[in-house]
Order: sequence, then structure tokens, then C-alpha cells
Amino acid sequence: MSTLSSAVTPKLAEIIAIGSELLTPQRVDTNSLIITQNLNLVGVEVFTKQVIGDDRERLTDAIQRALGRADIVVLIGGLGPTEDDLTRDAAAAALGRKLEHSAEQEAILAARFRSINRPMAQNNLRQTYLIDGAEALPNPNGTAPGQFVVTPRGALALLPGPPRELKPMVERELIPRLKPLLPPQVIKVRSFRITGIGESDLDTLIAPVYSKYTNPVTTVLSAIGDLWVHLRAQGNSEAEVDALLKEVGDPIAELLGDRVYSTDGEDTLELTVGRLLRERSATVATAESCTGGMIAARLTDAAGSSDYFVAGYVTYTDQQKNAILGVPQELLDKHTAVSEPVALAMAEAAQRLSGATYGVATTGYAGPGGGTEAEPVGTMYLAIAGPKGATRCSRIRHGADRYRNRTLATQFTLDLLRKSLLGTIHPKPL
Ligand code: ATP
Ligand code: MG
Repeated sequence: MSTLSSAVTPKLAEIIAIGSELLTPQRVDTNSLIITQNLNLVGVEVFTKQVIGDDRERLTDAIQRALGRADIVVLIGGLGPTEDDLTRDAAAAALGRKLEHSAEQEAILAARFRSINRPMAQNNLRQTYLIDGAEALPNPNGTAPGQFVVTPRGALALLPGPPRELKPMVERELIPRLKPLLPPQVIKVRSFRITGIGESDLDTLIAPVYSKYTNPVTTVLSAIGDLWVHLRAQGNSEAEVDALLKEVGDPIAELLGDRVYSTDGEDTLELTVGRLLRERSATVATAESCTGGMIAARLTDAAGSSDYFVAGYVTYTDQQKNAILGVPQELLDKHTAVSEPVALAMAEAAQRLSGATYGVATTGYAGPGGGTEAEPVGTMYLAIAGPKGATRCSRIRHGADRYRNRTLATQFTLDLLRKSLLGTIHPKPL
């Protein structure tokens, strides 16, 4: 049996997500990801997680077994006021402790109902019971307090299911209570977000650097056209951890060069592009065909994007490419809409019509059908018109998956704009 005071490093946690709805295809347990992320940052590894339906005996049994093998057990959900909210009962039974009514929690709950001008239902009183010896974790976003109890068998936390209640409780209440119980250690993450290279090419490039180290741990995560490299270092002091991250991270940054669009791990590509535009007092307009407005949607996702986003034109048919953007009919007839000349004409039109510094455009066969012998399905042209009439076009082809094609075209067009703003690619003068 492991306890928090045993000399096991790192400490091990088990997460149990509770709720029959999480066993249906309609709901996914996302809360455990938030918990895992926060536990990892204080050096705790999650070694098991499970989902259990609303069944008192199975739940009690699962909690008991978890306490037998983990240092920290985190329970999610089932703290509501109804009959199927069994977590308090099951946790108390697993620990062999009583549930005690808390007058303080009742007062907090009553005040909460008064503040929203609603009567408190009788069954809400169920939420004022705490496991004997447990501390209540305040929940400013809901009615159920969390609970935290340290036992000889390890620490146990009960957290509410709604993610908007759980996340702040993990960050503000749970982690600060766990930290003093854990061996002192510093964990830091350095991350890079990358686009314009495939996952296996990226790995071939940087593995010679990171594979020599087990600390930091390097993880490569991938989404469509988007990669994320995380270095997670641990040590006894901040200086030690910083040195490790520098030793491994700097050569990786050097190898990746301008493919890195964010170094804090949080900034999306569109935020980076927005920042670069703002720093240069530059603006952009879009002319989209195959991406149907996806680039405009991403560029306008950030608050304050009116500083740099001027207009978005979605012209799907040839006729509208001509009528709205003024792409010459002869150009469309001669080259078809999926061609470099048309993509460039669209980008220039977006720039000219809006007065923006940059115009970007997409045109292509997103799939799953369409395409020609010369330009098969998946062919897409991405164009940019920059200051002083400089333009650039790239052609990509990635198969027949429509979602993937549109996502890639959006991503790579934003990246074309980013690299133009950085000056690492050079649009050609006409
Ligand atoms: P409530 O007082 O709302 O009943 P609760 O603590 O009893 O809260 P649940 O009833 O289990 O929590 O879940 C409430 C909501 O939170 C549900 O909509 C559920 O889908 C969502 N939820 C519960 N557990 C998770 C989870 N592990 N991941 C993501 N969402 C979850
Ligand atoms: Mg509930």
C-alpha cells in the first residue's frame, strides 16, 4: 500500500470519472485531461484512469482499489443533489468513514441560493455533507463543494463534474493542497508549435537531439498540418530545470527555424499572424473558394482582429469569382478556377478591393470528388499578394479527405502569410 509519505518518486495518481452518461457515445471524459495536466506540473504521474457508471457498489469497489495502489485518487462528478449522485456516499463507504452534515456548508449554500433569488430545494442539503475529516473545496461556480481528505492510504479528492466548476477548483484548491505533501521538485515545460513539416520529417530532424535525454521528456503531438513539441524537464531547482530545457530546446529551435510559429505553446497560428500584422501596422483580406471562409473565421477568432482583418470574400462559383472579384473570364476559361493564375488573381483582387496590405486566396478541389487528370482531387492553390505587387503561390495535394484538405489549405495559407510577414519567404514581383 502506498502513501503520500512513502519514498516513491514520482507520486502516482488514479482518476475515476463517474457518470453513466460518460459510458455513452454522447459524452467524453475531458475533465481528466485538465486534472492530468495540472498533476503533471507538480510532478505527479497519472498511471490509471477509468470511467464508472452511477452504481454505488461498483464505485465503492473502484475507489477502494484505487486507494490501495495510488498515492492520490481523484474522483470526478456525481456531487450533485440528486439520487444518482453517489460519489460522496461511495467515497465515505470506501474509506469506512461517516458523512457528516456541515452547518458551514449549509450556510454557504443557502447564501448562494439567496443571491440568485431562488429557494433552496430540500435535496440540495445532500451537498452539505462532508466525509469525516475532509476539507471542503469552495466552488464559486456551482452548488457542490469539492472535498479533500488525506488518509493513511493516500489523498482523496472529490470534484464536481461540470468542467467550468472543476477546472478552477483543480487549479486554485486542489493543487495548492497537494503541493506541500509532495517532494519538492520543479517541473517546467518548453514547447514549440510548428507547421509546414510532416510528423515523421519533424521526428527525423529533431530525434538525434532529444533521444539522448530522458529528462526532459520530449513529446510530439500532431493535428492536421499542426505539430506540437513539448519538452518537460524536472529537477531540484529552477536553475537546473532551465539549464536542461536550454540544453535540449535551443538546438531543436535552431533545427526547426522558421517552421516554429509559437514558442509559448498557447498561441495559435492565427494569433501569431495577427500579432505580426499588428506589429507591422499591416492588414489582410481573404478571397476564399475551397476553404469557404475558414481562413477569415480563424483570423477573426481573436478579439481586436479588426485592427488587421479588413474583409473576407467567399466566391465559390466561377461566375462569382468573376462578378465579385473581377477575375477575368478568359483566365477562368483558359486555366480553370483551380490554377495558379486564378489563385493569384483572387489574392490580388482581395487586396485591391479592400485596400488591405495583403490579400490571400485559396482555390482547389477539396474532395472527396472532383478534380481533373492534370489537377486531381486534393489539388489546391494557395496564393498571397503582398505589398508592391509581390505575389506568391503554392500548390499542395493531399488526397481526397475533404475536412483534411480544407484544414490544410487554411493552415498553410495562414503560414504563407506568416512567413511573408517575417520575410523568410519572398513573394516574387510580378
Ligand atoms: P451536478 O451538480 O451538475 O449534477 P455533478 O458533480 O453531479 O454536478 P455530474 O452530474 O456527474 O456532476 O456531471 C455534470 C455535468 O458535467 C454533465 O453535463 C456531465 O456531462 C459533465 N461531466 C461530468 N463528468 C465529466 C467529465 N469527466 N468530463 C467532462 N464532462 C463531465
Ligand atoms: Mg450530477
